Amino acid sequence: MKISILGSTGSIGRQAVEVIQKMPDFFKVVSISGGDNIEELRKQIKLLNPQNVCVKSEQNALILQKEFPKTNVLSGDKGLIDIASDKTNERILVSVSGKTGLKPTLAAIENKIDIALANKETLVMAGDIVMARAKENGVKILPVDSEHGAIHQCLSKRTEVEKLIITASGGPFRNKTVDDIKNATVEETLHHPRWNMGKKITIDSATLMNKGLEVIEAHHLFNIPYEKIQVVVHPQSIVHSAVEYVDGSVIAQLGFPSMHIPIQYALTYPDRHEGIETKSFDFIKAQRLDFEAPDLEKFPCLKLAFEAGKQGGTLPAVMNAANEEAVFMFLAGKISLREIYEITKKIMNEHKNIQNPSLEQILEQDIITREKTKSLFQKK
Ligand code: MG
Repeated sequence: MKISILGSTGSIGRQAVEVIQKMPDFFKVVSISGGDNIEELRKQIKLLNPQNVCVKSEQNALILQKEFPKTNVLSGDKGLIDIASDKTNERILVSVSGKTGLKPTLAAIENKIDIALANKETLVMAGDIVMARAKENGVKILPVDSEHGAIHQCLSKRTEVEKLIITASGGPFRNKTVDDIKNATVEETLHHPRWNMGKKITIDSATLMNKGLEVIEAHHLFNIPYEKIQVVVHPQSIVHSAVEYVDGSVIAQLGFPSMHIPIQYALTYPDRHEGIETKSFDFIKAQRLDFEAPDLEKFPCLKLAFEAGKQGGTLPAVMNAANEEAVFMFLAGKISLREIYEITKKIMNEHKNIQNPSLEQILEQDIITREKTKSLFQKK
């Protein structure tokens, strides 16, 4: 399988490289891209010997080009799109963070390249457009997100589905009070009990906005109305998600928490291979599985996401942009954790929704929202 990784130096990207290394006969890496972490890129170039490498800044591109004269080094958004459009690829892993994923994903779709999608913002922002173009071009969108990977494995006949059950670990504040959460520090918020992930998604997991984004992602990926998507808190993170069928049968996908497994499945689908995880699952070691309803008073971001999803139009993209900017400000120590919700809600309330938006309208609203969110902080 000829494959490229967009975002190879992030958390998912690095784990994908580990998966690929375990199957050198199965994978050939065509291109990688990795922001401006050139230290990690150097290692990956030596390890994977890709034809093309893309970095964010031109300056770093020049540095790498000198060091690796045989590798074609590109830079910026254009470099990313060139890599994504390369028809040599049979599959592209999109594991860049935030809105950067949208344009290269669309470029790959136009070139009929199957996608392993780890970037949920792409579907939150423009799920209708992305899924429609994928269908037109006969392109598979294979989810990397562990919950969606689980649902993908549990779905056999889509017409007979009663509901999708998306599990959530509940994050670091599951057992805390509303007041504890209000005053949570950045450090506490970044301390996720089950998953080791990038910063943006870890903050989103603490507010349950991540689960909300996943609900919107699931709606688009599996073409299921929001009324048929249920979020269930499951602190052990062993049931990764489930599908209930019309006859009352529930099929769930289980395993110890590991992102290697869903990454590998999205890269090797429809095949399964022995991979990096050699430890087999043990029900006896797992002992018990607990489930509870999400507390929407403590985690109101989940409610916001359901609302945004149901209303559709440009609202999900606006929510995503406001939340992302608010998360950056929280990480910078400028606002409290609760304010991520308050600011996102305010921006959503003020937005005049545009139904059936074009891609240009979505991207325009994304930029306007980010500016508006930033200006709210400046006034504080
Ligand atoms: Mg997930």
